[in-house]
Amino acid sequence: MQTLKKLSERFWYQTPVSETDRPILGAVVGNDLTLMIDAGNSEDHATYFLEELSKNGIPRPSLAVITHWHWDHIFGLSALDFPSISSKETKTKMKELIPFDWTDEALNDRVKKGIEIEFCAAAIKQEFQEHRDIHIKLPTVTFDKKVEIDLGGVTCILLQVGGDHSSDSIVVYIKEEKPLFLSDCIYANMYAPKNNYTVLNTLRLLDILDTFDAETYILSHWKPVTKKEYQQEVNTLRSIAKLTEKFKGKKQAITEAYIEQISRELNEDELETIEFFVNGYMLNQQD
Ligand SMILES: [Zn+2]
Repeated sequence: MQTLKKLSERFWYQTPVSETDRPILGAVVGNDLTLMIDAGNSEDHATYFLEELSKNGIPRPSLAVITHWHWDHIFGLSALDFPSISSKETKTKMKELIPFDWTDEALNDRVKKGIEIEFCAAAIKQEFQEHRDIHIKLPTVTFDKKVEIDLGGVTCILLQVGGDHSSDSIVVYIKEEKPLFLSDCIYANMYAPKNNYTVLNTLRLLDILDTFDAETYILSHWKPVTKKEYQQEVNTLRSIAKLTEKFKGKKQAITEAYIEQISRELNEDELETIEFFVNGYMLNQQD
C-alpha cells in the first residue's frame, strides 16, 4: 500500500513498492510552483501520485524533475501534461530507449543479449500486467551539471553527481528545509555483467554529497533516512572502498580486515557491499 507522507513543511513523498519496483515520488511545494520529483514507473504510478496530491489539497505540479534514465523513474512521464527537466545525459540515455518494444518477447530477448537486466524485466511485467502503454516521452528542459529552481519561498538545487548506479544521476536538494533527494545515486551499478561498485566513483560521489548540509536523505527504493543513518551507510561504503583498494580486490582479505575494523560479524548488507566492490575491482582489471 502506497501512502503519501509529509516529511517537512514543503516536502511530501509517496512510499515505494518493491514488487513492481516503484520508487519514491516527491513533491516540493512552493508559493508559486510545485515540483514533482521523478515521474514514476508507469502512467498509473504517476496518475496515482497526482491524485493523492490533489486529495491532500496540494497544488498540482507544474514541473517534473527526472533523476536518471532508468525505466522506473521515467515511464510515468507520458501521463504528465506539464513540462519536465533532466540533465542532458539523462535525455540522451532516454532517447536510446525510444526504438525498444516492451512485449514479454522483446524484454526476454534483451535480457538474453545483456541489454536489459532480469530484475527490471520482471518488474516491468509485474507493473504492466493488463496494458503495456509505454511511450518514452523526453524531458522538455535539460541542463548541464547544476541548476537552481525558485518555487516561491523554497529553492531546489539540482546537481548532477553521477556515481556507479548511473552516470547521469542528479540529486535534488531543498535548500531551506535540508532534505537531500538522493534517488538511486548511492546504489550499485546493476547494468553490468555483475552488480558492482568501483572505488574511485564511490569515493568521488560521497565527497560531492558531503558538500550538502543535509539533514534527511531520501533513497528512492527505501525511505528517508536521518543524517546519522546515512552516515553509517556512507562509513560502510568508504571503509570497504578503501579496503578494496588496499587489498587489490581480494575478497577474503577485505572481509577479514573489515571484521577487525568494526569488531563484529558482518551482516548481509555488508557482505553484499564487499561482493559488489570485488566485482567492480575485477571488472576494472578487465578493461
Ligand atoms: Zn535507478
